Amino acid sequence: MNKHLSNILAATLVAGTSICAAAQSNPDEKYLSWETYDGNDLEMTVDNTGTRFTLWSPEAQAARVYLYDTDRNSSATDTLEMTRGERGTWRASVARPLYGKFYTFSIKHDGKWLAETPGAWAKAVGTNGHRAAIIDFAKTDPEGWAEDKGPKVDHITDVVLYEMHHRDMSMSPTSGIVHKGKFLALTEPGTTNSHGEATGIDHLKELGVTHVHILPSYDYNSVDEANLPSNQYNWGYDPYNYNAPEGSYSTDPANPSARVREMKEMIKALHDAGIGVVMDVVYNHTANNDDSNFSLTAPGYYYRHRPDGSYSDASGCGNETASDRKQMSDFIVNSVKYWADEYHIDGFRFDLMAIHDTETMNRVASELKKINPSIFVYGEGWTAGDSPLPAERRALKENVSKMEGIAVFSDDIRDAVKGHYSSAEDRGFATGKPGNEETVKIGIVAATAHPQVDYSKGNNSKFAYAASPEMIINYVSCHDDLMLTDKLAKSMPGSTEAERQRAARLAQTIVFTSQGTPFMFAGEELFRDKQGVHNSYKSPDSINAINWDLKHYNADQFNYYRELIALRKAHPAFRMTTADEIARNIVFDKVSEPNLISYSIKNNANGDQWKEIKLVFNGSSEAREVSIPKGNWTVIARDGQISATGLDTAKGGKMTVAPTSALILAREK
Ligand code: CA
Repeated sequence: MNKHLSNILAATLVAGTSICAAAQSNPDEKYLSWETYDGNDLEMTVDNTGTRFTLWSPEAQAARVYLYDTDRNSSATDTLEMTRGERGTWRASVARPLYGKFYTFSIKHDGKWLAETPGAWAKAVGTNGHRAAIIDFAKTDPEGWAEDKGPKVDHITDVVLYEMHHRDMSMSPTSGIVHKGKFLALTEPGTTNSHGEATGIDHLKELGVTHVHILPSYDYNSVDEANLPSNQYNWGYDPYNYNAPEGSYSTDPANPSARVREMKEMIKALHDAGIGVVMDVVYNHTANNDDSNFSLTAPGYYYRHRPDGSYSDASGCGNETASDRKQMSDFIVNSVKYWADEYHIDGFRFDLMAIHDTETMNRVASELKKINPSIFVYGEGWTAGDSPLPAERRALKENVSKMEGIAVFSDDIRDAVKGHYSSAEDRGFATGKPGNEETVKIGIVAATAHPQVDYSKGNNSKFAYAASPEMIINYVSCHDDLMLTDKLAKSMPGSTEAERQRAARLAQTIVFTSQGTPFMFAGEELFRDKQGVHNSYKSPDSINAINWDLKHYNADQFNYYRELIALRKAHPAFRMTTADEIARNIVFDKVSEPNLISYSIKNNANGDQWKEIKLVFNGSSEAREVSIPKGNWTVIARDGQISATGLDTAKGGKMTVAPTSALILAREK
């Protein structure tokens, strides 16, 4: 159930199956008539005047609240019988604040009392999240929290994303970090590896990324919080309590305030360092089916079903949620708003976003912008299986132009640059396989319409699906599938590490100079690997943890990434914000050799000081000669080296592009 199946291309879906399903009896039709409740007092509110419980459960025959003194291993101290309220709710209250207590709900359904649940809206929980907690959130704020703010973002294309798992970053003894595997790991300044080089948050500052994208950090199911010394590892794509932080990342899962305060401290430390925080959110499925908090509060309602009544499974994880139903759509919208308000989260990455409907995603984006215009949203524009939701309503990559303020991952550039994700041995443009040139160009122009890009030759997409570069996230590697280092090892048998590092540099140079928003996986800049494990969702730390001493051994690799990021940040030409600008300013050169792309970004694009930037990518294992217009060029990248401010100068004419490398030149007039 924890197996995270993603990356199944929308193109593999069988067209029309959803329409057939809809024509048969639809077991979900009944839910459309259920009364919904959008009050902001779900499911518990507390202040000095009292504690109020409001459970949404339209079909319950009765409902109760159980109160506890501890988070587990104790009997209820009180039972509150709830009374029916308006619009499908049940209510109970106590005329005093119950700070420090825990609670669960139980409903009577079809004549039977269902198992206890912390509810779907628990904002604080105890060990393993089985009981919700009543805490004073004001007391969880770190000092200076009221003034805390993430970086201002005018355009998502100005962002540089760094995807990380809390344990990957800190578990290795070489991290020098005290709070290993915890939220607090990123609050520690001055940490170093065995060679005295910066790790943790100081490393992030040195690298220059603008935002970290943290893998699921809400309370998930798989890791036993009562047994932390066993060092279990999980990515966390098995949601349990969507609105409370994961306990295993706190120093004390039994103390419900600790995980809240420590996550805020992490966010504050990153914000103080000028770094924003994007949270990976997985509203598309839950870890459990009949036993989930959704099922135990409103059985059936939150999920889609097949005509035979079984759970449909577009997530590949056993169920899929139903954002096309009002209460579920509101749940998603209110949940991200809560994380943005209470935790100052700067962006959201939606897992298997195409399981959600475009209307919900549009609401997500517009509601978040009201809280903070710098917040951005992106997601996987595909599902991991078919869904009863019609394809035209899904938040698919192909539908991204129907979504204002939402971006999607480009599997086009990903697979074209390094080889297809599903075949370990497959090579791509950067590793010498011909036939990917046009798809790489689709990546360079961020899947927008360009007069020189022939979408009929695209490997994954046949049309310009993005109306704007702000709709595209470019990447060649992430937590899923073989990370870049491992992909290169598997697809380049017999190669040296130096050759593979060259290929990695070329691959990332293409990503970081392309229009759209660049995204990288933590530790790639150190050339870390995961020992060839493509689905390391529950692999031990020995596979997943970053060995920070690699920063010393692969110092050149790290410096290359740092300069590449500095180049992008210094030059708005790489960060155009409209499709029109891209079509006007990017001019591809005619080249005939395979694995060669040459283009210019002209006209001081997007206000750049550089009049023209010339980029030539040679993915072949042979040197190529290209003709560069005469002029006073600064050499930015050549033969596997890069400097944002220039390595050298050149006069143009015939120039050689070394095997597996990028040549980047720039001129001011
Ligand atoms: Ca948990």
